[in-house]
Amino acid sequence: MRHALGEGHAPMRLYDIHAHLADPRVLPRIDGILAEAARHGVAGILANAARVGEWDAVCALSGREPVYGALGLHPFFVEEWNENLPDRLRGLARRHPRIRAIGEVGLDFYPGREKREAQIEVLAAQLQVARELALPVIVHNRRSWDDFFGVLHDLGMVPLRGVCHCFNGSPELLRRVLDRGLMVSFCGPLTYPNARRLRQAARYAPLDAILTETDCPDLPAAPIRPGPSLPQHVRYVLETLAEVKEIPIDEVAERVGSNSRELLGECP
Ligand SMILES: [Zn+2]
Repeated sequence: MRHALGEGHAPMRLYDIHAHLADPRVLPRIDGILAEAARHGVAGILANAARVGEWDAVCALSGREPVYGALGLHPFFVEEWNENLPDRLRGLARRHPRIRAIGEVGLDFYPGREKREAQIEVLAAQLQVARELALPVIVHNRRSWDDFFGVLHDLGMVPLRGVCHCFNGSPELLRRVLDRGLMVSFCGPLTYPNARRLRQAARYAPLDAILTETDCPDLPAAPIRPGPSLPQHVRYVLETLAEVKEIPIDEVAERVGSNSRELLGECP
């Protein structure tokens, strides 16, 4: 029997919209990682920054195919924030044409809400930079959805162009996220056999609002545990999406591809 992806078909193009390529666990091996990704048909990677110290590396990486960059400060590191950073963020984003998003930014109240006020302030400041630059936002949110939606409302930023990365919620939360204009991206945990609620959400998620990611080097898909997860492993996420949505994997890959190019600001 002929393989579904055999002759006459272009190989699937893969997109990883959330990878920590500037992470010290990844950066020293970047040449090999990008070569492997290319060999597996990875057509786009959005390198996300978690800390200010990664911004320069993300800018440099965004000059290498097929990498784009997102600059931002993760809620776990809000103590790194200062009043000069919005200017620095604007300057870097304007100087580097392949910086295509602000991220990752958001609220994370795990394990507690001690830094709630600081997180909200830093998120709001970064969302305003995204608005000025007309860039989409890569959102990291945990145990903080009401506050997050409150910030968007207060800033008048609904709808918001961007994506909730590593979406891990219920179908009800999915509805609230989609109602704000956001897309959702799925990663390794979707492939875990016990992820029933998450698979249900993925089943309901419309094809024009889904993306794939690895959160490289974390959150490895089931077949590659304990990791590290690498950009080409989005393929396992696509396989699970195809399975739960009961549609051919090529079709899911094509839709995720056009959503990704839209997010990254490339022509379809
Ligand atoms: Zn991340």
